[in-house]
Order: sequence, then structure tokens, then C-alpha cells
Amino acid sequence: MKSSLELLERARKVMPGGVNSPVRAFRSVGGTPPFILRANGAHITDVEEKTYIDFVLTWGPAILGHAHPEVIEACIKTMRDGTSFGAPTEREIELAELTIDRVPGLEMLRLVNSGTEACMSAVRVARGVTGRDKIIKFDGCYHGHADSFLIRAGSGALTFGNPNSPGVTAGCAKDTLIAQFNQIETVEALFEANPNEIAAVIIEPICGNTGCIPPRDGFLTQLRETCTKHGAALILDEVMTGFRVARGGAAEIYGVIPDLYCFGKVLGGGFPLAAYGGKEEYMRQVAPDGPIYQAGTLSGNPVAVSAGLKTLELLTPEVYQALERTGQRLEDGVAAIIEKNDYPLSQHRVGSMFGLFFTPQDVKTHADVTRCDIPKFNTFFHHCLDLGVYLAPSQYEAGFLSIAHTDALIDETVSSIEEALKRTF
Ligand code: PLP
Repeated sequence: MKSSLELLERARKVMPGGVNSPVRAFRSVGGTPPFILRANGAHITDVEEKTYIDFVLTWGPAILGHAHPEVIEACIKTMRDGTSFGAPTEREIELAELTIDRVPGLEMLRLVNSGTEACMSAVRVARGVTGRDKIIKFDGCYHGHADSFLIRAGSGALTFGNPNSPGVTAGCAKDTLIAQFNQIETVEALFEANPNEIAAVIIEPICGNTGCIPPRDGFLTQLRETCTKHGAALILDEVMTGFRVARGGAAEIYGVIPDLYCFGKVLGGGFPLAAYGGKEEYMRQVAPDGPIYQAGTLSGNPVAVSAGLKTLELLTPEVYQALERTGQRLEDGVAAIIEKNDYPLSQHRVGSMFGLFFTPQDVKTHADVTRCDIPKFNTFFHHCLDLGVYLAPSQYEAGFLSIAHTDALIDETVSSIEEALKRTF
């Protein structure tokens, strides 16, 4: 049997950090990341045959649990007829129609391969349509690794202390203005200081790349009004929240219709598939209907589209009710432990997305989350891992639930969290 340490040492010789996405390397929490052999339902198993209850779920997509038999079946069936054509298929129309049917105000979309591409393309469309260069993003929000977004970014960029990545030109960085999540006055100030220059405001409607920070009451509505008043596009980045927090995503929960959306993760059913879309007046400007160029060799890949289609089909209203019950059970269990022991912790949850913060303060802004006790989180993380609970290896990441997380698994997790906290404090 190979060990994860052995594989990490080998991997580090050929890949930066030994990984293909930085947070996987466990640099901030320390230790060796388990190298994964297989995953099924709510469980993930490493090369040393240790099995964990998984709350990372491939960073969000596996809402049906890993290796859902119907999704796998759909993919195998598709693959037998060829894995990529670079030509249109009926399945792509079906996925677009189903997505449009589910998401409020979504009129047209374009499939791409990653959330990064979706966000980058949505911003290009907003710039092309408005004829303006600047965008506003929020401190700690992550929209993928395209140049315009690696300014005060969240997720791994924040975890590793590089929210502004070297390699992003000054010319590009100057066009990304930074506002504060949940503080509308910071957005208004930027519009006032840059009249007729801002093409778009891009936001994670629930900030999941600094834990899980829901919007304050009315914040997204105010943002919508501010964008409309100043002639800028509102881009909701629902890569994480889309089809996860509700059937119609965060837009459905908070009643806000953006000009453009970005999707990924759940939409791809575990494959590299994402989308951007929105109002027809914007999307008709995309090539070949319009002059704004965007393309992709593997875009609309038949296997990925089949996985996405089957996933969306299986995501019935009842599934979201079940996920809400599961989320509530986890939240209540953890809240009881915090209260009983008076631990300096707080938590947030929206549906099947959650964050446990190592600060007693109610986390509403990016500044709040930076006050978390990171060394304590790191200790807690490793105790959880030892106890068989696989959480994201950073305080700045959200946790996720799937329909495969049964009540028994949640109760087992709550007991493990109680033990991990006892060992931490
Ligand atoms: N937008 C959000 C909100 C995300 O959470 C992520 C990834 O975590 C992205 C965009 C980028 O997606 P991808 O990693 O598929 O490029």
C-alpha cells in the first residue's frame, strides 16, 4: 500500500506543491493531504484505506453524493457514442432549457469548462455591452483565477496570504475596484468616484470563499438598485450557490435578478462544466450573434453535459427540503456544543452550505472573518481529520452537505466535532 506522504513527495517533484490546485496541498493547515483512491456517497477513501465523512464534496459539486449511480450510468451511456465532437448536440439545448427554466430571470446562456471561464466571460460581456472598463468586486470574494479577480481575492489566494497575485499587470489591477461585502456605502462611494466608468459589479451572493457569509437583509436588493442607477451590470457569481442553496440558487432566495449569472460546480455534476448567461440583450452580443468573442474546444462536452443534465433532473424540490433538514440537524448539533461549552465560535448556514468560524463574533464582513483564530482552526481541522471528518483545509472555505449525508452520519459528525473541539480548547 502506498502512503499519502510517499505520493506527496513524488508529486512535489513534478507539480507545484504536488497538487493541481493550491488549497489541496494543506500548506496552511500543515501535514500531508490524504491522496484519494475513491469516493462513494458521503464518504471519501484515501490510499491508506482510511475513510472519511466528506464535507468538501469536491468543493461543492457532489450535492447528490459521490458516484451517484444514475449520474455514472448517464455518463457511461453517453461515452459509448464518443467523448467529444466539437459540434452542437441536442443535450446541450436540454441542459440550457432546464437551467433557464430553473433560474429566475435567466434568458440565455453559454456553456464553458470552469467557473473561472464563466466569470471572466461574464465580465467581458458586461464590458463589451457597457463600453466601460472598470469592475467592482468584493474583498474576499473569489471568482476564479483570471487576472481581473486576483485582487483582494478569497479562497486559496487569501489562505496563502496572496490575495493580490504577482503576475497580474498594474494595468489590469487598476480596473478592479474593491468594495466591502454587506456594506453598500462602499459600493456607492466607488460609483461616485468613478462616474460612467464601471461596467459591472460581480459578487458571490453568499460569500463562500471566506467561509459562509450570507448577505444582510436587503443588501443584494440595494446592490441591484445601485447598479441600475449607474448603468452597470450586476453579475451574480452563483458558481458555488447555484442549484445548491435552492433550486433556483441564491437569486431565488433573495429575490434579486442580475443582468448576468455565472454557474459551475453542481451544474457540471462532477465534471468540468460551467456556464454564464443572463438577459438576452447582453447574451445576444456574444459571438457569433454579436461581436464579443468567447469560445472553447471542449465547451458543452457531451459527457459533462450528461452528468449535469442527470444531476439537475434528480434535484427535485423534495431534495432541497431534505438538504435543509440535514443542514438544520448539523447546525443544531454544533450550536448545542458551542453553547454548552461556551466556545468562542460562531456559525452560518444557508441550506446545504455552512461555515464554522473560530471567532465568537457574528461574521458579517470580510474584516470579521480575518479576526478568526487561524491556529485554533488548524488544530481543530487535524483533530477532525483524525476522527474521520474531512473538512476543507482552510478557515476561509465553506462546507457542503449532500443527500447522501444521512441523519446517522450527521450525528456521528456532531460527536466527532465535539471531541475535536474538546481536544482543541
Ligand atoms: N466563483 C466562485 C464563487 C467559486 O467558488 C469558484 C471556485 O471555487 C470559482 C468562481 C472558480 O471556479 P473554477 O474553480 O471552476 O474555475
